[in-house]
Amino acid sequence: MLDTPGRVTGKVAVVTGGAHGMGAAHVRLLAEHGACVVIADVDKSEGIRLAQELGHRAHFVQLDVTDPDQWRALTETTRSRFGPIDVLVNNAGILLSHTVETATLTDFRKVIEVNQIGTFLGMQAVIPSMKEVGRGSIINISSSAGAVGITDNFAYAASKWAVRGMTKEAALELAPFNIRVNAILPGEVNTRMIADLHLTVETTPLGRFGDPREIAYLALYLASEESAYTTGADHVIDGGYTVP
Ligand code: NAD
Repeated sequence: MLDTPGRVTGKVAVVTGGAHGMGAAHVRLLAEHGACVVIADVDKSEGIRLAQELGHRAHFVQLDVTDPDQWRALTETTRSRFGPIDVLVNNAGILLSHTVETATLTDFRKVIEVNQIGTFLGMQAVIPSMKEVGRGSIINISSSAGAVGITDNFAYAASKWAVRGMTKEAALELAPFNIRVNAILPGEVNTRMIADLHLTVETTPLGRFGDPREIAYLALYLASEESAYTTGADHVIDGGYTVP
């Protein structure tokens, strides 16, 4: 794929859930385009492996997005390693399959804790850095499950609709500080998250699953100054899944 290199040169980015799947694709593309990237994930071995592969522009920090103390430590480590954060991709997420009837309270809380509260804590943690540099781009990963009803994903859908709501609220609050907040709504993307779900491509008009790198190009755009006039928006990238 032809590209102009350096679309985010000089930026300092944090990608949660950056060790696998779409997060790893965001990390790679941001680093390829000149950003310094912190890979923040619970999976230490894979995070370190990716950081070593990418070299001096990448660094791994172990982070459970549900823990405010770990977020504080991450912002300090990022500052001392690369400088203040100006891009955050709130990508870490989990999916547990259940219906409104079969969801246990424990499972419901677990999904909300990672997907929704993790996103909230991430935004809160990076705002001081972004205010300091006078700009910022927060990219929250929602889902097509946050736009239409999809059966058997009850807590997941609740969390992904919430991500869109928090995105709009934060976008309004942070616009005066030149901090942009946008949501990405991917459809079915080839990662381990959907590997066991037995999904078919028939419900996707383009007739195939997305590749993580295709989603990463949208995140790269939102991280870069090319999207300087874009905030509070839902960016759908789903092969037409939500069109019908
Ligand atoms: P994945 O399972 O491949 O990757 C998720 C990453 O999040 C992993 O690296 C995992 O270790 C990390 N993670 C999980 N819990 C964490 C926690 N508490 N703290 C920090 N890191 C944690 O999944 P993926 O498909 O790449 O998903 C990335 C994001 O995209 C998620 O938010 C997911 O909900 C969303 N999404 C995925 C699809 C899809 O079809 N794959 C579609 C729409 C949205």
